[in-house]
Amino acid sequence: MSSIRCVDLLKRARAGSYAVGYFEAWSLESLLAIVRAAEIARSPVMTGFCGEYLANPTRRFKEEIGLYGAIARKVASNASVPVATLLNESIDMNVAYRGVKAGFDMVMFVDEEMPAEKLIEPTRKLVEFAHACDVAVEGEVGALGMVEHLGGKRHSGRATDPEMAAKFVQCTGVDALAVSVGNVHFLEGAKARLDFELLEDLHRKVSVPLVLHGGTGIDKAEFEPSIARGVAKVNVGSCLKRTVLECENGYFSMNEVGKLNPNDVLGRGGALDVMMRSQEALIEEVLGFIRAFGGENKAA
Ligand SMILES: [Zn+2]
Repeated sequence: MSSIRCVDLLKRARAGSYAVGYFEAWSLESLLAIVRAAEIARSPVMTGFCGEYLANPTRRFKEEIGLYGAIARKVASNASVPVATLLNESIDMNVAYRGVKAGFDMVMFVDEEMPAEKLIEPTRKLVEFAHACDVAVEGEVGALGMVEHLGGKRHSGRATDPEMAAKFVQCTGVDALAVSVGNVHFLEGAKARLDFELLEDLHRKVSVPLVLHGGTGIDKAEFEPSIARGVAKVNVGSCLKRTVLECENGYFSMNEVGKLNPNDVLGRGGALDVMMRSQEALIEEVLGFIRAFGGENKAA
């Protein structure tokens, strides 16, 4: 069980008509909560970190991709269900290469400004390198719409062109393709309108499993018809962090932390431990998605 080749994980999902959730972690606690949710649901799962965030140049301390890769791999291999790891959305090609070397099961490079035609050659090279290390690559054609923050400015995206998508996959050899079919990054408090006709067309023309990013902003009822049209992986990020923030906010407004034993609040893992509470809330949030993806009890 435990860690699994990404390609096999996605193949199984397609054959079994469910989707694998990629739940993005940002810390050891979030990583563990995601895997624990998958174990509770007996579901395969993907988790990992965002390449763009880890390599964010405004960080005071440089994060080592290798360390995050090692932690993710270890957590995956200890799990009692199949877990594959992803270094998601690196906007610097060097970071994607470092992700391969760090042992993530899949890496992704994105440049939504660059036309797909121009992206082909650098992506093909990344795929060649990654495949030689038995690492999969996710590509993207088109650009997702994006919301700056809850209630904030919404930027429109660029829908995935099916012919271009087919050509991109064929020329690069990517193992999965993220598509823009109305899904929106960071969308909270509203739901995106998915273009199922476009998804259907993409499914007909593109040979690899399709990926929907922006899972937070997709109505849970829309996952099933998406899966029927070739979606084998859904990325979920924003709502996981929102869940933890709301849990912590609630905790600090309900408890007079100044009067509590700090070891009860952080580190002991009991009923008063704020990190444990966040983990519990995160587990419930992830479970809701796993069920909507049809992934429950699919950990063969
Ligand atoms: Zn994304």
